[in-house]
Amino acid sequence: MIGTKIGFDLGTSTVLAYVEGKGIKIKEPSVIAYDTFTQKTKAIGAEAYKMIGRSPDSLTVVQPIRNGTVYDYDAVQIMLAYYIQKICGSQIFKPNVIVSVPSQVSELDKRTILDLATTSGAARACVIEEPLVAARGANIGKEFRGTMIVDIGGGTTDIAVITGGLVALSASIKVAGNSFDESICRFARYEKNIEIGLVTAEKVKKDVGAVKSLDAELAVRAVGKDITTKMPKTVEITSNDVFEAVKADVDSIVENIRLVLQETPPELNADISVNGIVLTGGGALLRGIDEYVENKLGIRTCCAENPVDCVINGIGYYLKNMDELEQNGYVFKTYQDINDFEE
Ligand code: ADP
Ligand code: MG
Repeated sequence: MIGTKIGFDLGTSTVLAYVEGKGIKIKEPSVIAYDTFTQKTKAIGAEAYKMIGRSPDSLTVVQPIRNGTVYDYDAVQIMLAYYIQKICGSQIFKPNVIVSVPSQVSELDKRTILDLATTSGAARACVIEEPLVAARGANIGKEFRGTMIVDIGGGTTDIAVITGGLVALSASIKVAGNSFDESICRFARYEKNIEIGLVTAEKVKKDVGAVKSLDAELAVRAVGKDITTKMPKTVEITSNDVFEAVKADVDSIVENIRLVLQETPPELNADISVNGIVLTGGGALLRGIDEYVENKLGIRTCCAENPVDCVINGIGYYLKNMDELEQNGYVFKTYQDINDFEE
């Protein structure tokens, strides 16, 4: 195939792009800001993230991927076209693109993504399931032995059993990093009488968040609005507060992992009890979450190295070893192929 090979991980929170032979070239928040009246794009990525909750009415700030699927078609197209242009510049040949999708997305959603990629500057595009590439990125799951991957992203947690390089079974739930942020906001409101924004809650979570008792408790100051006086107010939020706030969400993730394990056939189930569970995605960075899952389920659990990069690194592997993809039935399609398929 002629043309640069690029892989995209279009996450709810983060967009990453991997360029074959060069590595990760884009890692930006999945946010776009445009003029409400003229629709003209004002900012993409980190610049747009700074505007969340702070924009005037004349500016619309959107996170165009929600719960792992395309929520705002036009915004995703603008974002993809922008990054493809940034990577390829004035190259003559259009690039070939792999885009990862959550394992639960419908055929229609897959088509939408292929369509988006090929109308955003890709010559050919191919979609591939996230748990599979996450497993590749974490360097597991190639043999015919069951391994479990739990990817805790922004909008969804994807739970998958991988064997022989393919997804044997999977589930996707809408409890993930964003839910933790919302729960921290709720906790602040009811326990500290303060209204804080989601961006502040996310920062609190990253700075001091834990689901275990830390030897030295961490604390951070959060600024928001006093519920009673409606005036600015500062409170201290500790790692224990975050634990209390997000415990129910993490328990819900654990119970969904249990459900998938209960559905898993005996040989694979036995493999997982030996191989353990690997956590990926940004949510895996919550302090102590691996220990928490391990204690609740009695199965060895660890956080992958660089959990946020697992999916994109896995895509990077497949960009280099496309024959492996083809052997497993994945095909690259042109815009024409996709539209013929429609008829
Ligand atoms: P997606 O693939 O859905 O874009 P990511 O894998 O990038 O998601 O993970 C994003 C989520 O991980 C967000 O909810 C973010 O707040 C959370 N996150 C990132 N870093 C940390 C951290 N250090 N501690 C806890 N959560 C984190
Ligand atoms: Mg992801």
